[in-house]
Amino acid sequence: MMNRRPIYLDHAATSPLHPKALEAMLPYFTEKFGNPSSVYTIAQEARKALDEAHDKVASLLGARPTEIIFTSGGTESDNAAIKGVALAGRDWGDHIVTTNIEHHAVLHTCNFLEKQGFRVTYLPVDGDGLVTPAQVAAAVTEKTLLVSVMLANNEIGTIEPVAEIARAVKEKSPRTSVHTDAVQGLGALPVDVNRLGVDLLSLSSHKFRGPKGSGILYLRRGTPFTPQQSGGTQERNRRAGTENVAGIVGTAVAMELAVTEREKSAPRLAALRDRLIAGIEGSLEGVRLNGHRTQRLPNNVNFCFEFVEGESILLNLDFLGIAASSGSACTSASLEPSHVLLAIGVPVETAHGSVRFSLGPENTPEDMDYVVKALPGIIQRLRAMSPLAHQPR
Ligand code: PLP
Repeated sequence: MMNRRPIYLDHAATSPLHPKALEAMLPYFTEKFGNPSSVYTIAQEARKALDEAHDKVASLLGARPTEIIFTSGGTESDNAAIKGVALAGRDWGDHIVTTNIEHHAVLHTCNFLEKQGFRVTYLPVDGDGLVTPAQVAAAVTEKTLLVSVMLANNEIGTIEPVAEIARAVKEKSPRTSVHTDAVQGLGALPVDVNRLGVDLLSLSSHKFRGPKGSGILYLRRGTPFTPQQSGGTQERNRRAGTENVAGIVGTAVAMELAVTEREKSAPRLAALRDRLIAGIEGSLEGVRLNGHRTQRLPNNVNFCFEFVEGESILLNLDFLGIAASSGSACTSASLEPSHVLLAIGVPVETAHGSVRFSLGPENTPEDMDYVVKALPGIIQRLRAMSPLAHQPR
């Protein structure tokens, strides 16, 4: 195949910083370097930038500026949300409800809390990765402090009915808090905290072309919350530590661009996604699309290829200049099959043959066609070497 520019198809792992975000950030590394907590003019420039970022992010989410807490990313936001609500409610509850396809930032936090004496219900999902509002509500008791269900899954792209879940939970138990990990949703789906009806929401800047190491936790006013860091009074006593001013400025700029461009970018990405899905299904036998066919992120394509290892496919794709991933970025270094694929009923051997393509604004229809053309050769070569492919089924 012809040599051409590299094709980056791993936007769910991370996305390139938007040039406008970079430009907005630069002065806060140089002349506007002050500590926002200090009183002199240089510091006040940083303080003003922080205040403006709170205002902008809040208005984009339909929240109040005081309900926005800047964090170091999606992982910290998830940890702060879940531990923060659990520890604040110890006097009346001890139970958390979540699903078994959450990101490890949620699952491992829940595992940690179990060791501290909390009880956690990990709800199963169906073959498409969906959990229903009725299932969630049925698991909620008068001791349930928190429900945490992701807005969209990072591996298989399935979009969960979070607004309906939040409504069902509140009907059954008004004082149970509802959290959603919306890390993969921003820029792809509408994210409005009141429409979703959630009390806490996590975001990560580098997934929407902001800087790495920067994130957002939305915390609805009045939600009981115990901060996870001790120290200064930053972020209204909810997240101690000198603020990452440049990161926060870049976050707000990237978020505004992602949200305002969504109506144009999401349908464009969905068309590319469908072109890639149709191309793969049309050119190869023994493939399985993972995740819901229509209720899925506009930029997510995830396939299992029978009788081959996802890692081998990735290396071969990389050789042709195509960057994709097997499972989530965090697990691609481990040999364990993805917990998400196992949860939707993919057999262990097949789960090893998974590849996720996550698209972004710079991708074109020609990129999709290039991948579709490259894959059959790779898969056939790998299957020819695979002992599994030659066993009778
Ligand atoms: N939650 C989801 C759904 C994610 O996809 C990720 C990153 O892959 C995270 C949380 C963690 O975000 P961060 O990389 O900012 O810690």
